[in-house]
Amino acid sequence: MARIEGCRSCGYPELTQVLDLGLSPIADRLVSADRLEEPEPRFPLEVVFCPKCSLLQIRETVDPEILFCEDYPYYSSFSDELVSHSRANVLELIESRALGSQSLVIEVASNDGYLLRHYRERGVPVLGIDPADGPARAAEAVGVPTLGTFFTQALAGHLAAEGRRADVIHANNVLAHVADTNGFVAGLAELVQGDGVVVIEVPYVKDLIDHVEFDTIYHQHLCYFSVTALDSLFRRHGLYLNGVRRLPIHGGSLRLYVEPRERIGDSVSELLRLERESGVDRLDYYLGFARRVERVRMELLALLRGLKGEGRRIAAYGAAAKACTLLNTVGIGRDLVDYVVDRNVHKHGRYMPGQRQPIFGVERLLEDQPDYCLLLAWNFATEIAAQQSEYQRRGGRFIVPIPETRILDGAGD
Ligand SMILES: [Zn+2]
Repeated sequence: MARIEGCRSCGYPELTQVLDLGLSPIADRLVSADRLEEPEPRFPLEVVFCPKCSLLQIRETVDPEILFCEDYPYYSSFSDELVSHSRANVLELIESRALGSQSLVIEVASNDGYLLRHYRERGVPVLGIDPADGPARAAEAVGVPTLGTFFTQALAGHLAAEGRRADVIHANNVLAHVADTNGFVAGLAELVQGDGVVVIEVPYVKDLIDHVEFDTIYHQHLCYFSVTALDSLFRRHGLYLNGVRRLPIHGGSLRLYVEPRERIGDSVSELLRLERESGVDRLDYYLGFARRVERVRMELLALLRGLKGEGRRIAAYGAAAKACTLLNTVGIGRDLVDYVVDRNVHKHGRYMPGQRQPIFGVERLLEDQPDYCLLLAWNFATEIAAQQSEYQRRGGRFIVPIPETRILDGAGD
């Protein structure tokens, strides 16, 4: 683990603290039954702002070998919403870029092939890059060739030298995860064709702040990007943020269209203007955040303690990384939430980091019918409420924690 000396993007040394979430276990490190007796390592989660390039970031870098390789349990294909979101993106790019059998599409952090398989099914050659063993093997099984390694500038140079430069590079939910931010972007610049495009999705810092999504802050997420911060990051490496789209996925994301030649679209100028007007590029915008996080925390604790006091039983839904931040920073132990359910079979039989709730399959909700279910995966609230209509029909109620604590009405809201 290392504390950064300066901004992850521009290197400016005087970073200002915005929020301190204390010591937190590693979000995706679910605990197996045979390790329940062992203590877990905890690392500081401190959010800081760079007044020079306006990048919000965390101060500590946990070794990526610890974060992403060993037993990484995330499989993108378990979310229906993510799979259909990806398919629509692929169809649009095949059409707009006239991609075919002579093209090459590379995805960095390709996971289980949830995105590239849509290109492959349409005859476009693909290459995935992902260091996580299980998901990479799952990708190979659906016909997506995958390099089981981290994407680095050196790897990009190696592929480019082999003549494997890409017409389209996808990098979804990975730019914020890499410790060598500048090396990663330099690698993208080397790997993309002169007339190609890099399509990147990152969570949007404005949504994080405006909707108090503090649970999306964990050790894997080193940076929290604004368009202002991204624009300056790409320019440093001869790339241009030419188009941007706001997406609802993951609580509010940006899809960036980045190219080697400059042709800034209206979508980018407008968001840059919006950020200047709302102050996203200045420290003041971030200073009230810690107070708002504390309010959500107190509201949620009061509700859960009140329900427990009435003898209600409470479970939770979604054993994702953000669940770890929420349970640990709010302080929701097994005295409040009995267990967590999740669709991902790889998580069943394990325990939540820090608070140690056991994880079961979602069928447990109907078998056990707890009175309340805390929606830790609130970003998929609509999808989950629809899937769990029977649980609600029988009287079960979902609690949404963010941006303010509320109980969904039984009609599925
Ligand atoms: Zn900076």
